[in-house]
Amino acid sequence: MSALSKPLPWQHELWLELTSLALLDRLSHAQLLSGPAGIGKRHFARALVAFLLCEARSGYACGKCRSCMQLAVGAHPNASVLSPEGFLGLALTEDGHHEQGLVHWQPDEDRKKRDISIEATRHMIERMTLSNHYGGAKVIIVEPAEALNTNSVNSLLKTIEEPPAKTFLLLIAERPQSLAATLRSRCQRIRFAVPTAEESRSWLQEQGGISDAAALEESLGAPLRALEMARGDGLAQRREWLELWTAVAKQRRDPLTAAATVGKEQLAEHLSWVCAWLIGLLRGAVLDGASERSAALDQMLAEILEAQRRATGNAQPQLLMESLFVQWLRLGRHALPA
Ligand SMILES: [Zn+2]
Repeated sequence: MSALSKPLPWQHELWLELTSLALLDRLSHAQLLSGPAGIGKRHFARALVAFLLCEARSGYACGKCRSCMQLAVGAHPNASVLSPEGFLGLALTEDGHHEQGLVHWQPDEDRKKRDISIEATRHMIERMTLSNHYGGAKVIIVEPAEALNTNSVNSLLKTIEEPPAKTFLLLIAERPQSLAATLRSRCQRIRFAVPTAEESRSWLQEQGGISDAAALEESLGAPLRALEMARGDGLAQRREWLELWTAVAKQRRDPLTAAATVGKEQLAEHLSWVCAWLIGLLRGAVLDGASERSAALDQMLAEILEAQRRATGNAQPQLLMESLFVQWLRLGRHALPA
């Protein structure tokens, strides 16, 4: 049995509750898994899918049967994920962020990351109502549920009201209050709480002896997020971005090629990093009484805030970054301490 088919230590009570209901055939057809980011909702949902489909389960999915093997490579016909990436076979891989395997339907490249379209939702509903492979259950994870657009929600509501036999929808949401009330009220609500500091610490210890109190604090007590930070992917990325912005300010790098290094999928994260970085610099400039630096930083911050606003609309990421770096080429040399 792999660690992927077990819930996280602080989720055992919920696990017992839901798996008992499943064994009694009383699990509701639509569950809404809600709670803050980084506490293991995705992990739990995936373990539950494995349990529901396993052919030799006892407490957890066995990890060895045909169903479990198919899940490991994303090839299970009855386990899928509906997300802005499309409608894909669910893969129980370690990071869980990239489904590999079956592709039931995918949007055009430029539409990805925006929302869960009605087209994607229709493909999912169609698949739910097809007759079952192997006569087993069918489970679909919808994540993030906040990405469902209005039309998608409406078509989903009908399916939830009259669900095909042995089908289960697991909706994952960090901000359930932003979902349509009609959708929320038709789902069984499963609330995930932030584990205690003690639980988080001992779990982090087990993940390779990580005891990074700062990371746990910065992630607001969410252990999976803390682990990600402590493992340093985030840190290395931030160091790269710092070098990039410094190089443009010092005119060692031209704005257009600099803009090209920020991927479309990183845009939101990149902008919030720049924002935090500039605020830190501004604080320093104010403390130093450096008015020219403060003014330049102020201006640049206003540009970033405007870019963040436009990034949530239809702005073209590459153009957005180019115009920011062009501004920064002009302001940067006044903004950085000598
Ligand atoms: Zn199994």
